[in-house]
Amino acid sequence: MNETESPNPPRPTVAVIGGGPAGLMAAEVLARAGVGVTIFDRMPSLGRKLLMAGRGGLNLTHSDPLDSFLARYGTARARLAPIVAAFPPAALIAWCHGLGQPTFVGSSGRVFPTTMKASPLLRSWLGRLESLGVAARTRWRWIGWDGAALRFETPEGDRSLLPSATVLALGGASWPRLGSDGAWATLLDGIAVAPLRPSNVGFVVGWSEHFRGRFAGVPLKRIALTFAGATVRGEAMVTADGIEGGAVYALSAALRDALAGGGAVTLSLDLRPDLSRTTLAAKLGKPRGSVSLSNFLRKEAGLAPVGVGLVQEALHGGAGKDDLAALIKDLPIRLVAPKSLDRAISTAGGVAWDEVDDRLMLHRRPGVFVAGEMLDWEAPTGGYLLQACLSTGAAAGAGVLGWLREGRAWPT
Ligand SMILES: Cc1cc2nc3c(=O)[nH]c(=O)nc-3n(C[C@H](O)[C@H](O)[C@H](O)COP(=O)(O)OP(=O)(O)OC[C@H]3O[C@@H](n4cnc5c(N)ncnc54)[C@H](O)[C@@H]3O)c2cc1C
Repeated sequence: MNETESPNPPRPTVAVIGGGPAGLMAAEVLARAGVGVTIFDRMPSLGRKLLMAGRGGLNLTHSDPLDSFLARYGTARARLAPIVAAFPPAALIAWCHGLGQPTFVGSSGRVFPTTMKASPLLRSWLGRLESLGVAARTRWRWIGWDGAALRFETPEGDRSLLPSATVLALGGASWPRLGSDGAWATLLDGIAVAPLRPSNVGFVVGWSEHFRGRFAGVPLKRIALTFAGATVRGEAMVTADGIEGGAVYALSAALRDALAGGGAVTLSLDLRPDLSRTTLAAKLGKPRGSVSLSNFLRKEAGLAPVGVGLVQEALHGGAGKDDLAALIKDLPIRLVAPKSLDRAISTAGGVAWDEVDDRLMLHRRPGVFVAGEMLDWEAPTGGYLLQACLSTGAAAGAGVLGWLREGRAWPT
């Protein structure tokens, strides 16, 4: 790539900005076609968020049938459907195997590498990209355009480049210390960006000092949560300032949107989803005698200490004691606010779909493509995030190839 303000070089060279899963996949598609690719990233190394995702086992994708799979993308489904269909879960799994990383399907239908880690996969992937001739410039931060040229802040001072095409894959705005800080949203020169909001996020709850001191960090196992008619079974975690974890994340988009309307919202917690209210009422209808309420709840309702603590927290908050079975099945948790974006697993919002064509090229910036979490979609955890990042990365790479061919900058 020419580092001055010169016209396009004879051989097309593509700048991929952002070395996360989306950018790396775009780079792979381009490099396999023989195009020169340089990946630029503001961090000292590539794929930092992918490595963090590996700490939780690296849920790569999901074995849902494609129709149910696509339903997870909500309003973005129509735009993502052809993109995911072109690089579907089966292709992702085959790609992973091609990197020497076998996979397995967990009991929930989620797909993981058997190592349950991201580091071997990333290492193998970066090695493959290097052997395909992909170059990487780390500590290069994209800071906008100067006409058609890309501007970067680098350790050697500011630089300006004019590639044949560009893929922007700058991620969302969660966990900014891993690289994607959402600062790009102010650099896009009038291109519409839906506000960046936390997705798959925990919520703030005003626990009592006593409850927080005793139960912060304790998991809530085999529970069900209900909000706005949707019920999710799973696990959650009490934190010092609230609640988080898989079951909460699954409802987090609806909870976040309800909180945006102002005021608190109430999440219903079922501490014994496996028992009917009638069965529970029969167990708790026995005389308690001199047994403490805690021991009674533990023995008759089978509640863990954290469950007992939650019932007591609700009683102190004014809930009636006369129907404990109802309370255990429908325990109100008052959520005050979503936790901040920097603690969310992913980001909702991003570059508006109206701004890109079907191959993910910006209408207002021909030759510039967008991929990954930077686009305006969200999905629950379960592998849907990485799948969409890799599928949009592949689509952007293919889009660049098509565009270069149209411009006769690359042989058909
Ligand atoms: C704790 C955690 C666990 C997760 N677990 C899973 C999981 O198990 N399964 C799953 O599907 N998803 C998971 N995710 C989400 C998944 O990691 C992300 O959706 C995915 O990494 C997004 O890919 P991306 O390529 O769009 O962006 P990113 O991975 O965020 O990469 C963007 C890159 O762009 C770079 N960048 C940003 N701005 C600039 C700039 N101005 N100039 C140059 N470079 C820049 C960043 O440094 C970064 O390297 C998890 C996320 C977190 C935080």
